[in-house]
Amino acid sequence: MEPYRLKRVYADLRRAAGRGDMATALQALQEAIGTQLPSSTTLTPLSQCTTTLSYRGFKPAELAMLAANIKRIVKFEDVPPSHARAFMARHADRYQMTLGRPYYKDYLLMSSRPDRLPGESQLTTLYASRTGAGRALMELERSEPEAIEDAGDLLDFPSCCSHTFSHIFQRSRQDQDTVNDDAVRALLEQTMISPGDAALDPLSDLDLLAFYPCQPNCNAALSIARTTHTALQRSAPKIAAQASRDLGSPVLFWRMPFFIRFDGDVIPAAQTPGNGPGVGYKSSYLHVFPDPSVSRIQRMFGGCVLPLLALGNLVQVDDGDVVIYADNEEVARLPGEGNYPPLLGLWAGSQVFSDKIDPHAAGTLPTD
Ligand SMILES: [Zn+2]
Repeated sequence: MEPYRLKRVYADLRRAAGRGDMATALQALQEAIGTQLPSSTTLTPLSQCTTTLSYRGFKPAELAMLAANIKRIVKFEDVPPSHARAFMARHADRYQMTLGRPYYKDYLLMSSRPDRLPGESQLTTLYASRTGAGRALMELERSEPEAIEDAGDLLDFPSCCSHTFSHIFQRSRQDQDTVNDDAVRALLEQTMISPGDAALDPLSDLDLLAFYPCQPNCNAALSIARTTHTALQRSAPKIAAQASRDLGSPVLFWRMPFFIRFDGDVIPAAQTPGNGPGVGYKSSYLHVFPDPSVSRIQRMFGGCVLPLLALGNLVQVDDGDVVIYADNEEVARLPGEGNYPPLLGLWAGSQVFSDKIDPHAAGTLPTD
């Protein structure tokens, strides 16, 4: 796909889906994800949809990081302004807080913009710290948006992860300007070579890092995940238990808004019928965002893909094609045709979740 074309493809997709022209919408969707889809006019029923990652509201791990003083600054992104102001009022005596400009989020491109489309609600960024360093970060991001590594230092991200993300950011600027897509793709590509540690799964509101790890087994990132999970175990044990349960479920991923989560397991390459590893699954769920028009487009995508997945119990990606097997016999294939082949996100267990609670890690989770 030529640079910056995706933005126009998504604009076509939104327009066509908005006027109910499903044939044109499907064309645009196929171009966006580089995969031929069977024609379908059915939207995935809500019972087969899941939202693990919403890009909306306070993340439990970030609240725990702030309360347990794990990071000097915590930057809460994608928070409704009324929630941010309520949080500021409640915690004014504990933290110094700065509110960013309000914005709207494009849940297809995963970028923020000042103007609103129908159905969208306003979001903002809240910078919180004990020292006032949050304002310095906000000013750095405004004056030097390309200074990714400097911002990463202020946010106490490991330098290996900041450095890798900075590269991805620069490369994205020359391509489709979809840095979230590219960061997730870079990570999932590596999980197909060797499954990652589930504690570093980024596709969840229960994410323990609030940054993209440079590798799916980065030791520096794992150390932060462990500290955060321990703080969560003490301040919000149910959420900590949910994170250990839910993080690392396998995915089939095209682009950020278009992916499938499985109730299933990684099947190593030696045990799959095709090339490379696979996912053996009992059920598959379409991932949707809370945004009404984008979730409708996601459900259109799911209407094409989920019925095929329901035919089988194992999925692989073979040379850009998605291949679905039932008891090791191929039952369906979605031909790939782009430079961004779909990927499997494969996660093993986690050394983080098997650890005991550290009795010295204190902290109370502030409520949002
Ligand atoms: Zn790293």
